[in-house]
Amino acid sequence: MRILVTGGAGFIGSHLIDRLMEQGHDVICLDNFYTGHKRNILKWFDNPYFELVRHDITEPIRLEVDQIYHLACPASPVHYQFNPVKTIKTNVLGTLYMMGLAKRVNARLLLASTSEVYGDPDVHPQPEEYRGNVNCTGPRACYDEGKRVAETLAFEYHREHKVDIRVARIFNTYGPRMLEHDGRVVSNFIVQALQKTPLTIYGDGSQTRSFCYVSDLVEGLIRLMNNDYIGPVNLGNPGEYTILELAQMIQGMINPDAELIYKPLPQDDPKQRQPDITKAKTYLNWQPTIALKEGLEMTINDFRERVS
Ligand code: NAD
Ligand code: UDP
Repeated sequence: MRILVTGGAGFIGSHLIDRLMEQGHDVICLDNFYTGHKRNILKWFDNPYFELVRHDITEPIRLEVDQIYHLACPASPVHYQFNPVKTIKTNVLGTLYMMGLAKRVNARLLLASTSEVYGDPDVHPQPEEYRGNVNCTGPRACYDEGKRVAETLAFEYHREHKVDIRVARIFNTYGPRMLEHDGRVVSNFIVQALQKTPLTIYGDGSQTRSFCYVSDLVEGLIRLMNNDYIGPVNLGNPGEYTILELAQMIQGMINPDAELIYKPLPQDDPKQRQPDITKAKTYLNWQPTIALKEGLEMTINDFRERVS
């Protein structure tokens, strides 16, 4: 199959491309390299079934493909808040153009949405029916509302134009190839512990997150793409940890003497997050297999090679 991966040079996209190439597909990676890197896909450069297109999805593009994994969008608050209007354009215009492309060439499109559509949730854990608690004027809105509109576009193209869609709501995902300085909690704590600087806990560390190892997530995305269920479907690991617990776990694994320091909690930071994955289990026969400690070990090994 000819498969387009937008955002393919990024963290999740590059792991997805590895799997698709190994399965023998013809893969086009489209990226503008805002947070993605050529080194993530370097190993496929000489393969004739791999193509790299440098392109910004806020501009239209014509390609002939059978499936589109639409991942292009910065995922870390530091990067999506750097240029919020651009984040909105990437989510809204970018998804509009990708839906148009899917319609034109009759391709199936999987949208990488996010648990952020639930905002700071007052229902716990979050099932797909929960409609969310998003502050539409806050600093996370460019991403949260952008993704909500992206989901709306996908469903309207499906209803109006019969475009074949799949919508995944991805919860916090971690693993090798996360950027050292992209501000996400797992990468921050690992880099800080390796560099023997204090681990920075925002707020009192009682807020919770659920962390999914990237290979589990990629398996879920591929199952969703090749299944009849269109979603939206939560993909994440239901194991829920406070940020303080995560800090202590990473501290114990890298540097038990590492200091923990407390910094102000960013505005609108969700207090709790845990996916209800009943739908993924029922329709995709999917659930995560990698425990947090095991996944952190693999991630720490990758960071050790890059961080000194
Ligand atoms: P990432 O930042 O590593 O990857 C995003 C990729 O998209 C990068 O390669 C970047 O260069 C590219 N990109 C950004 N804007 C673009 C544009 N306008 N045109 C073309 N390319 C563009 O992030 P990731 O963690 O790999 O996330 C991938 C997708 O998964 C995103 O859509 C994100 O919203 C979603 N997601 C990720 C997580 C997570 O925990 N990592 C959680 C929920 C949702
Ligand atoms: N966080 C933290 N220290 C850091 C980076 C993040 O305590 O150095 C917290 C952040 O406030 C949030 C959680 O960790 O409560 C997850 O943050 P991240 O940016 O990784 O993901 P998101 O908030 O988008 O889920």
